[in-house]
Amino acid sequence: MRVFLSFFIFLLLILCGLLALNTLNYSSKQPQTASNNNPVLKEFPLAAQRLSKAIEFKTISCKQESDTSFFSAFRALHRFFDESYPLISKKLLKVKFGEFSLLYKWEGKNKELPPIVLMAHQDVVPVSEIEISQWKFPPFSGKITQDTIWGRGTLDDKVGLMCILEAGEALLAEGFAPDRTIYFAFGHDEEIGGKRGAKKIAEYLETRGDHAYFILDEGLTITQGLVPKIDSPVALIGTTEKGYMTVELAVNHTGGHSSMPAKHTAIDILAENIARLKRKTFTAVFTKPVDAFLDYIGPEMPYPEKVVFANRWLFDPVIKNIYSQSNAGNALIRTTTAPTIFQSGVKDNVLPHSARAVVNFRLLPGTSQADVRQHLHSVLDTAQVSIKVVEFSESPPLSSITSESFQYISKTIQKVYSNVLIAPSLLIAGTDSKHYRKISDNIYRFLPVFLTPKNISQIHGVNERIATKDLIYAANFYYELIRNI
Ligand SMILES: [Zn+2]
Repeated sequence: MRVFLSFFIFLLLILCGLLALNTLNYSSKQPQTASNNNPVLKEFPLAAQRLSKAIEFKTISCKQESDTSFFSAFRALHRFFDESYPLISKKLLKVKFGEFSLLYKWEGKNKELPPIVLMAHQDVVPVSEIEISQWKFPPFSGKITQDTIWGRGTLDDKVGLMCILEAGEALLAEGFAPDRTIYFAFGHDEEIGGKRGAKKIAEYLETRGDHAYFILDEGLTITQGLVPKIDSPVALIGTTEKGYMTVELAVNHTGGHSSMPAKHTAIDILAENIARLKRKTFTAVFTKPVDAFLDYIGPEMPYPEKVVFANRWLFDPVIKNIYSQSNAGNALIRTTTAPTIFQSGVKDNVLPHSARAVVNFRLLPGTSQADVRQHLHSVLDTAQVSIKVVEFSESPPLSSITSESFQYISKTIQKVYSNVLIAPSLLIAGTDSKHYRKISDNIYRFLPVFLTPKNISQIHGVNERIATKDLIYAANFYYELIRNI
């Protein structure tokens, strides 16, 4: 017994030694920029007013090409661009796609250098009737209060759109001429998939043989209080985004009178199958972009968490368990299942002949359509439930975190924002940049705004707004990014 105990203590000591050694060798991956406690910011005195004005144009994405309800808003926004940014209108070449998407070309001095593409989208999501009353100011008023600009699009994504233009106009006024060509690519239907805008712009660049040095689109942000155990703000740069798949499930069954219902009706069968699908989650996996996120964030953790992150060979199941607890954390490590539409029945005393549901999956990098189909076949009773894939796009290729462009974007963030940590990560939503996979290997998804547990729900939600101070920082980010490229 004593021998066994000594042996056990010996093993335990070795394990503790190993954990300690790994933790001591666990070094920071933060870019080595000189600490920047007081960045010198440019003022952009008109930025707040111009963003406010841009919010007033109700540029809601039009579902069909025939839907003309918001055409005038897009036209007015374009006129506003021409008036407010005269140097951009005069000196940059402008091409339109799908009538309202815009591509500006700022010709570089050195034609040999591959261009960069800065992306944003002009369209916004609508505000539902129910939500309007919850807004403190009308959502398309662009109301400016003391230190804040309010309205739909202030965060997603007119801030990106306007700050790129602000930076470009300011640099042109200073006589700046870029070495490499810079494109500003502004889609008009991102919120409904980007097929008429971003997709067309990307096809145009492809036919011209343009291969970009890097592309920067909206996506992840600077988060504060959203990465557990980290107090500093963390600028997350999306190196890829999740894939997208929508399936329609349908059940056809004998109907009849509701006074003598069969044991299983179409609604019962479909509901049971959906419930099973929700219960049987996909396996939790740390994909490469999330591995990279943990590698960047781990060394910045306090003790004892740092020991856990430094010894992932032992503690990965613990980390997975923690991430599974929150919706956002769970979405980082799993392909997710979301039933979004459920339809059946016509009358209260009639058993329906059919029931239909739509389920949306967000796919981890590396998960294919066949993987989801296999999952569906293993969970659903396919003798009764038919499966039809309605939409599919896989996760785009992973962009490098050792590339010059990733380092460059990281350093620009640190130059403008003081005491911000950097971490690559996986974007769990989708962006227009998914259409650009043939244009560059280095596609990054980062919007320079702050998201906190308090304001994260404002995106596509109620009382969307941005602090004027944050808007000025965002304009400075694009200004530095273009100026030093
Ligand atoms: Zn957006």
